[in-house]
Amino acid sequence: MKQIGITGGIGSGKSTVCKVFEALNIPVFYADDAGKFLLNNSPELIEKVKTYFGDDIYSSNQLNRQKLAQIVFNDSQKLLMLNSFVHPAVANFYEEWLSAQNAPYILKEAAILFESGSYKSLEKIIYVKAPEELRISRVMKRDNVTRTEVLKRINQQWSDTKKESLSDFFIDNSELKLLIPQVIQIHKTISQ
Ligand code: ATP
Repeated sequence: MKQIGITGGIGSGKSTVCKVFEALNIPVFYADDAGKFLLNNSPELIEKVKTYFGDDIYSSNQLNRQKLAQIVFNDSQKLLMLNSFVHPAVANFYEEWLSAQNAPYILKEAAILFESGSYKSLEKIIYVKAPEELRISRVMKRDNVTRTEVLKRINQQWSDTKKESLSDFFIDNSELKLLIPQVIQIHKTISQ
């Protein structure tokens, strides 16, 4: 089965685009959601995170996500460490998920598909694009966060130019172009 990656900057609309692929019966693995799930459900991962960040990063067995975000988005070394705990757990979870799928191809959605290196095992990459200002305002509205907080997250990611140069298909989600025809076109090409 073909494994296709889908990524884009924060607030570009990756998840929104994936919903369209799902409507075409394409299974989507949401790596960021898997990471969030495992951080609250994988005993092995929880242990590693507690050992490094301290037990009080969890309260009543639930990760304090805001506290963790506050730490890692202000310290790239700690973000790197967190990723080194989460990525292998997500990779195992993905392999299990993959073996249960039956479709012409699957999508793996991740914000840091390139930064994590996981793009290397994917056949093609779809890149969702939207202007930075629009992305910032979407995320501020969706997550109720400040502009500074969004910018910090953007600054932890690779540049658009670098990511685009490694991608194969592009979706313009600037709200000036219709999404569905773009998705259908790519779906047809990949399904061939
Ligand atoms: P993140 O990297 O933070 O996970 P994302 O790339 O998955 O973000 P989405 O969550 O899909 O982005 O979109 C960000 C916000 O912008 C959401 O609230 C979504 O509803 C909105 N949005 C995305 N695309 C469009 C669009 N074409 N028109 C209007 N709103 C949109």
